[in-house]
Amino acid sequence: MNVAVIGAGQAGLSTSWYLTQSKVDHAVLEAGRVAETWRTRRWDSFCLVTPNWSVQLPGAEYAGPDPDGFMPLAALIDHFESWAKSFDPPIQENTRAISLEPDGSGFLISLPSGTLQARTVVVATGAYQRPYRPAGAELLPKGVVQLFAEEYSNPAALQPGAVVVVGSGQTGCQLAEEIHQSGRKVFLACGRCIWVPRRLEGHDIVWWMIESGFMDRTPDKLPAPAARLLGNPQTTGHDRGRDLNFRVLHEMGVELVGRFVGVEGSRVAFANDVAASVDFGDARLGDLLKFIDADCAAKGIDAPTFHMPPPFRVDSRTSLDIAQDRVGTVIWTSGYRPDYGWVKFPVFDDMGFPVQTEGRTSVPGLYFMGVHWMRTNKSAILYGVGEDAEVVARQIVESRR
Ligand SMILES: Cc1cc2nc3c(=O)[nH]c(=O)nc-3n(C[C@H](O)[C@H](O)[C@H](O)COP(=O)(O)OP(=O)(O)OC[C@H]3O[C@@H](n4cnc5c(N)ncnc54)[C@H](O)[C@@H]3O)c2cc1C
Repeated sequence: MNVAVIGAGQAGLSTSWYLTQSKVDHAVLEAGRVAETWRTRRWDSFCLVTPNWSVQLPGAEYAGPDPDGFMPLAALIDHFESWAKSFDPPIQENTRAISLEPDGSGFLISLPSGTLQARTVVVATGAYQRPYRPAGAELLPKGVVQLFAEEYSNPAALQPGAVVVVGSGQTGCQLAEEIHQSGRKVFLACGRCIWVPRRLEGHDIVWWMIESGFMDRTPDKLPAPAARLLGNPQTTGHDRGRDLNFRVLHEMGVELVGRFVGVEGSRVAFANDVAASVDFGDARLGDLLKFIDADCAAKGIDAPTFHMPPPFRVDSRTSLDIAQDRVGTVIWTSGYRPDYGWVKFPVFDDMGFPVQTEGRTSVPGLYFMGVHWMRTNKSAILYGVGEDAEVVARQIVESRR
């Protein structure tokens, strides 16, 4: 095999699309089915948080009747299926790469059914790989059901009782809202995340982030490598898109608590840091607005008007009693970590992210795709992944000349 692309999500399929255009012989190895992560690791009511028009996959740019809407999961999966049908990528489904090792000057991929040799490999196994559960979770009593967000389906499937959602990125906020609206008591353990107003001057915030160049920021603009782990902005695509953040959740009756710090006997403990998390989100929104303002000034156009709400303060408990507060379920939505243990090459940094330039590693022929901040802020979303795939595919084509 000349080129093996591992993973058939948007990163792998975009790469395959460009390789197909250049008539490069390749195979796409996929552990499940096309778009497996969207099929099996999202909740029932999931819809996109980014508007439909921002789905800019190569050969599958959104062209439907509702560009300003937010596709529900079934429509997104249909979109992936039609995309795959449109160029018929050479996908081998139900084929997990178990390990990737050196093989002379090429690569040996172990599969459930044997091995495969390749001269070039593109690892596109997902931006969100291993859900993270903070230390101390193991001390929760057995009677409390623990779920990762990707295991949650809907409120009715939860066991009776109150629900603690740990982590307040886009997903944590959406789950907290949905479970609260089903009539359950919900505690949201807040972490640090930017929030955004859904629209400014009639344009979706994603439009502003793209137009201003905010999404084109490169990794060297990050304050620290750990900033790659920060969540996407708090907002929602439900009800045709609206705000969803600490203020909104508090107003509707979700109880905000601080960061999860552990379990002490029958009590779940939280830091006294809700105010710090709120201020962090406000400050990061302030950074984004300054970025947009500066871009508008450079273009000689009016900056959007936005009135920052006053600082938000709430009394918060620092512990819950599992029995008295009737805690039945804890949902961990506290981020993800890279999980490339099966890739037997020394190409990872101390946080487990591949060390790469334009997707290319120090190992000739080994590339990555779909990594957070791989080339820019938009590398791992439906809007930006195509641009990276074109760059990676071009390098592969040129290396073969
Ligand atoms: C909850 C959530 C909501 C999101 N919402 C949005 C949104 O609204 N808009 C947006 O633009 N982005 C969104 N994203 C971000 C991003 O678009 C998705 O994470 C997207 O799935 C990333 O695509 P990918 O191809 O990199 O990875 P994936 O879609 O995860 O695809 C990786 C593929 O690799 C396969 N695989 C994994 N390991 C192996 C292996 N060893 N061998 C073979 N195959 C393997 C998997 O089965 C999977 O099919 C969201 C992310 C999350 C987690």
